Amino acid sequence: MPDRVLRAIDRPTIDHRSQEFAQLGDDCLEGMKRVFQTSQGEVFIFPSSGTGAWEAAIVNTLSPGDRVLMFETGHFGTLWQKLALNFGITVDFVPGDWRHGVQPEAVESKLRDDGRQEIKAVMCVHNETSTGVTSRIAEVRQAIDRAGHPALLMVDTISSLGSIDYRHDEWRVDVGIGGSQKGLMLPPGLGFNAVSQKALEASRGARLPRSFWSWTEMVEPNKHGFFPYTPATNLLFGLREAISMLLDEEGLDSVFKRHQRQAEATRAAVNAWGLELVCVDPREYSSSLTAIFLPDGFDEAAFRNVVLENFNLSLGSGLGKLKGRAFRIGHLGDFNDLMLCGTLCGVEMGLSRFGVPFKKGGVDTAMEYLGRRPS
Ligand code: PLP
Repeated sequence: MPDRVLRAIDRPTIDHRSQEFAQLGDDCLEGMKRVFQTSQGEVFIFPSSGTGAWEAAIVNTLSPGDRVLMFETGHFGTLWQKLALNFGITVDFVPGDWRHGVQPEAVESKLRDDGRQEIKAVMCVHNETSTGVTSRIAEVRQAIDRAGHPALLMVDTISSLGSIDYRHDEWRVDVGIGGSQKGLMLPPGLGFNAVSQKALEASRGARLPRSFWSWTEMVEPNKHGFFPYTPATNLLFGLREAISMLLDEEGLDSVFKRHQRQAEATRAAVNAWGLELVCVDPREYSSSLTAIFLPDGFDEAAFRNVVLENFNLSLGSGLGKLKGRAFRIGHLGDFNDLMLCGTLCGVEMGLSRFGVPFKKGGVDTAMEYLGRRPS
């Protein structure tokens, strides 16, 4: 999180019915459309974590008993599926090995098999934060088109938005789901839905009960920069600052390139250490984080603890099926080459202290890569 964003949040809270607020609300709603790369859709902002935005996507578009297609890409794909089941949705959950993204071929064949077109939505996690695997959403869209299926496409962009290229209009995504605490460089507390006209249309007939999450309640007040209930005003001050940094100063393309380059340097270090990436398909490498297996017999939680205690460096834990086996390096948000080098030094020193068998020189390899490939 940049200090600038924190300073923007650190202000007296203003009246959320005032003209001053209307400008703030409008700046955030319009700015978020540009972050989602949509000019045709609407963006809704909730005072919630990402899970709330997941729920909003479901309750606004679906009815009890509806069928959807979801994918076991990792921990978050699994949690989203559980949420859908809790609402009485019938989920066709395509199994996965937690090392690959959504397979476009599987999407196409599942939809072709659905001759009666009962599947209402294809729901994918763009960047699986638990595995460091990024699904190829443009190809998922093409697969849906090839099958000629009318299902909605819903995409969780929580750890890709503002870090990895996500094109809401171009890929004709119907609901994009975001959260404030990752590429948007804010504390947790804002959830986003980017919504196509087709999804808005679907919401008119959807029968799951909803009130707090209802898009319909948002539409009118949003037109004037307002919200139907008390918004997270101070986080919106931060969001306006972050949007201006991402869009007007660095530019989204440069932000994506910066993360891509740092992710490449991270993988160069991992390869030099002789450790194994969780992600196996180079087309699916994540630019926002890298998940790495420790050799058998070395517990990831104990390793992370050594790194935290000795170097004050917080690594990501192994989640779900990867608990105990893999740790994660985050390289998203307000992150530069020196921060990355410091992070990799902490990991390399931690590997030594923890007695992991590995080859030294990962940091050197990453530095060499960064030096060779100027930003
Ligand atoms: N989806 C993804 C890809 C995530 O990374 C997360 C959280 O890390 C979530 C959903 C859930 O979001 P939250 O924890 O903000 O409710």
